Amino acid sequence: MSFVSHVECTVCDRRHDAKRVLTVCEACGQMLAVRYDLERVKSAVSRDDLKTRPPGMYRFRELTPLDAGEQPVTLGEGSTPLLSLTRLAAHLGLRHLLAKDEGQNPTGTFKARGLGMAITRARTLGARGFVIPSAGNAGGAAALYAARAGLPCGVIVPRGTPPAAIAEALIAGAHVFTIEGSIATAGRIVGKAAPQLGWFDLSTLKEPYRLEGKKTMGLELAEQLGWSMPDALLYPTGGGTGLVGIPKAYEELRAMGWLTGALPRIVCVQAEGCAPVVKAWRAGAETTAPWDNPVTDAPGLRVPSPFAGRQMLRVLRETKGDAVAVSEAAIADAQRLLARLDGVWTAPEAAATVAALLELKGRGAVSAADRIVLVLTGAGIKNAPPPLPPAIDLSGTDDAIVAQVVHALSRTA
Ligand SMILES: *Cc1c(COP(=O)(O)O)cnc(C)c1O
Ligand SMILES: [Zn+2]
Repeated sequence: MSFVSHVECTVCDRRHDAKRVLTVCEACGQMLAVRYDLERVKSAVSRDDLKTRPPGMYRFRELTPLDAGEQPVTLGEGSTPLLSLTRLAAHLGLRHLLAKDEGQNPTGTFKARGLGMAITRARTLGARGFVIPSAGNAGGAAALYAARAGLPCGVIVPRGTPPAAIAEALIAGAHVFTIEGSIATAGRIVGKAAPQLGWFDLSTLKEPYRLEGKKTMGLELAEQLGWSMPDALLYPTGGGTGLVGIPKAYEELRAMGWLTGALPRIVCVQAEGCAPVVKAWRAGAETTAPWDNPVTDAPGLRVPSPFAGRQMLRVLRETKGDAVAVSEAAIADAQRLLARLDGVWTAPEAAATVAALLELKGRGAVSAADRIVLVLTGAGIKNAPPPLPPAIDLSGTDDAIVAQVVHALSRTA
């Protein structure tokens, strides 16, 4: 038995039986969320018990949907460091700037958490194969976790998806298809192909378990901050799994009495070329409208019609959050700045949070006293780098080369 009490629709509250394979709400088609018997969790585990457990996201097993004895399909995801960005903080005039470095997960992004959890549950509930629409990283992670589960996987990505993510899926033996369009087109195709194959559709938030994997970021953050919450949290937003998942973790811990106080202001960060949540937020809308012609070099942000638009906007309202769109140039600058100042080569999506922070600081929306967390969702190495100066090619005798090296380096000392 797990600690799950039921699975509930996030819009109409309809209850669903957690022992079956679930996708979206059977009554209204909206996103489902897992609910726990938190009193029982509280009597089964204490904050001190956690200290003795090995690292990884299943340290929080009682707050995951796993059945008793269910073996996770795992590559060691979770327990990523919370890094202090001291030099960037000083540069911005901030005192408490932290980064959850999700690039240190297996597969190089936080997609490992969600897909590890979703594939674990789907396999237990009888899935025979998986299909996923992706902007790249989710497809790569799905392919590797499916391989680890011993099940086949099909990945559909837009043309132009970073080669590293495609290679990741191919090397795991997945069938990879590229198409014209965006993840929205891929999602439509997967939605029709999966039922014909009898394979499980892993689309973002169209099943309840990826969210539970991403939620573990919030559980870890709470523990890493000594069972407290930051004042603001910046999240690079595509489908919104973490944007919805992190506050879900905080709410559950609050209900258990493990956390007190207000939720952090959640800031949704998007690219100017694809910002459906920012646009809806500014308009005061209840839900997002599809974004025409999405363009950005941050693939994970190229999600023109997120399924959970309504749930994301609700999080922003309930946490007194904000939504910020940043330019491609600002993303590239931020990526270089973070690497130079604090040694983190982060993904362009994640660098967008740094660009957004610059903007928020500029207009006084964050202050020096605020404790701020950036969710650095992936490692830089999975993407094409931003424009950089070329390496200096040297030739000649060793002595000639030494002279050139010394000359160049002595000028930068
Ligand atoms: C998928 C992805 C995102 C967006 O995450 P969502 O949970 O879909 O909003 C951000 N950054 C990276 C690196 C990603 O792979
Ligand atoms: Zn419903």
